Amino acid sequence: SRALMAGKRGLIMGVANNRSIAWGIAKALQTHGATIALTYQGDALRKRVEPLAEELGGIVVGHCDVTDEVSIDAVFSELERQWGTIDFVVHAVAFSDKGELTGRYVETSADNFSKTMLISCYSLTAVAQRAEKLMPEGGSILTLTYYGAEKVMPHYNVMGVAKAALEASVRYLAADLGPSGIRVNAVSAGPIKTLAASGIGDFRYILKWNEYNAPLRKTVSIEEVGDAALYLVSNLGRGVTGEIHHVDSGYHVVGMKAVDAPDI
Ligand code: NAD
Repeated sequence: SRALMAGKRGLIMGVANNRSIAWGIAKALQTHGATIALTYQGDALRKRVEPLAEELGGIVVGHCDVTDEVSIDAVFSELERQWGTIDFVVHAVAFSDKGELTGRYVETSADNFSKTMLISCYSLTAVAQRAEKLMPEGGSILTLTYYGAEKVMPHYNVMGVAKAALEASVRYLAADLGPSGIRVNAVSAGPIKTLAASGIGDFRYILKWNEYNAPLRKTVSIEEVGDAALYLVSNLGRGVTGEIHHVDSGYHVVGMKAVDAPDI
C-alpha cells in the first residue's frame, strides 16, 4: 500500500540510468509513497538522472562523487536545507578499474585497490556519518553487495575484497547506529545486466550460469531487488539490522551445478 512509505523522505545514490539497481529501488519506494532525492555523478549522468527524478516526482540534489567529501557534504547540506531530516539512504555505488575486473586477483595494483575500497566500501561510512545527523528519530540505510564477497567468483577480484569489507562495515555501522534507531543493512543481489556489471569479464556467462543453477532457475530483476529493499527500508524491516539479505533466486545456497543445467 502507499501507506508503507507515506511521509518518508530519503536519498538514493547510484542511479546512472533506468537499468540501475538504484532505479529499481527508487521505483519501489516511490510506488509505496516515498519522496526521493537523487544524486548524479558528473555532468554526463546529469541529463539521464534529471528526467528520472522528474518521473519519480522527486528532486535532484546535485552532483556527488564519493571520492570528493566536499561534494558529499554539499548533498547533505542541501537535504538539510530542503527537508530538515531524512528517513532513509540507499547507497548503490561501486567502482573498480575495468582492467582489474578480469584475469587474476593477485595482479591487483595498490592504486586500484585503494580506489576500489574508497568508492565501493568507505563511501558507505562517509554517507552514514552525514545521514546520522539528519536522522534524529531513526532511519534506515541500505547498501548493495554481491556474493563475490563470500566466495571467489571469476573476474570479480578486488571488488569481491571491497564487498567483503563493505559487508563488515554494515555490521559495524549497525552496532554504532542501532542505539539511535538507525538500521543498516545490505541486499546481496544476484547478477543483473547494468552499466557497472558490463565492466566485469564474461558477465553474460555469469548470468547464464546463475539462471541455470539458482534454485528459482532465473536471474533477478531490479524490480525484485526493489521490493526486497522496500521491506528493509520500510517499517516492515523494523526488527532487522546488520543483515546481508540475498536477493539472488537462492543461488547462494547451492553447492554444485544443477543436474538439469545445460552446458554453457
Ligand atoms: P550502475 O552502473 O547502474 O550503478 C553504479 C553507480 O555507481 C552509478 O550510478 C555510478 O555513477 C556510481 N558511482 C561509481 N563511482 C562513483 C563515485 N566515485 N561517486 C559516486 N557515484 C559513483 O550499476 P549497478 O549494478 O546498479 O550498481 C549498483 C550497486 O549494486 C553497486 O554497489 C554494485 O556493486 C551492486 N551490485 C550489482 C550487481 C549486478 O550484477 N549489477 C549485483 C550485486 C550488487
